[in-house]
Amino acid sequence: MTTQDNRQDNRQISRPVLRFAPSPNGYLHLGHAYSALLNYKMAKELGGRFLLRIEDIDLQRSKPEYEAAILEDLAWLGIEWEEPVMRQSQRFADYELVLDRLDSRGLVFPCFCSRSDIAAKVAELGIWQLDPDGQPLYPGTCKHLSEAERRSRLASGRYAARRLDMTRALANAEGQFGWNEYSEGRELRTINAEPSLWGDAVIGRKDVPTSYHLAVVVDDAAQGVTDIVRGLDLFNATSLHRLLQEWLDLPAPSYHHHHLLTDDEGHKLSKSLKAKSLRQLRAEGVTAADIRQRVGLG
Ligand code: GLU
Repeated sequence: MTTQDNRQDNRQISRPVLRFAPSPNGYLHLGHAYSALLNYKMAKELGGRFLLRIEDIDLQRSKPEYEAAILEDLAWLGIEWEEPVMRQSQRFADYELVLDRLDSRGLVFPCFCSRSDIAAKVAELGIWQLDPDGQPLYPGTCKHLSEAERRSRLASGRYAARRLDMTRALANAEGQFGWNEYSEGRELRTINAEPSLWGDAVIGRKDVPTSYHLAVVVDDAAQGVTDIVRGLDLFNATSLHRLLQEWLDLPAPSYHHHHLLTDDEGHKLSKSLKAKSLRQLRAEGVTAADIRQRVGLG
């Protein structure tokens, strides 16, 4: 490598890195446009790089046509990203290695429960605490299975999810940790992480060797992301992400959780509530400049 290349390399390393990380399970709507445009704008303002990552670990819901539409819609909005685009479905071997690392520290246990097993156990115990996604906190059913029982269930072909043993992960975490959060006005505050909100979170699903939480942490580090700009709906997830980063010796990015766009009735725009897609708006004659205007980034 020449000195020139070296210098360029160092510059690359010290530049901020931002990313947009959509899931290709539907068409992008105005809420995504806001998140992507805000990321892109901040990357430009910071003199940083802008990357794209396709979060397609859900093999049932992710579709190539949605991915193609995402690339097309982002280009239409005037957004340019660096190649190559990262695709999580191509990274399962990396996630498996990370799960093994956490396992070797005694932080992972296999969980054979179905959703209804969990619901039944929660009802039996009368403990109704929910995690930030609104799911019942895991009641610990499989946490205390003997090693022999675990082995025999796995040997009989039963699928297991892998859960983080939150008690152990917190008992051995070094002191308190938090993260730097930028507000809309860009002032910085420190937030204390509260990973226990998630209980024994799933970090490996039954069908794939990761969950959203694990993949996002591994990939943000792999892509060298320094500033994570995403919706407020993921604010509490950051507590869990910070815990995983601590255990995996990964750098702590700064975060900006932006406000969420709502429809006329005040509901967060979402694919499930059938928010109008960018391509529908485009077909109605709305321009990219109109979209930027509508999301306040015109
Ligand atoms: N893939 C996530 C979503 O589409 C975003 C993940 C993130 O920005 O951390 O909601």
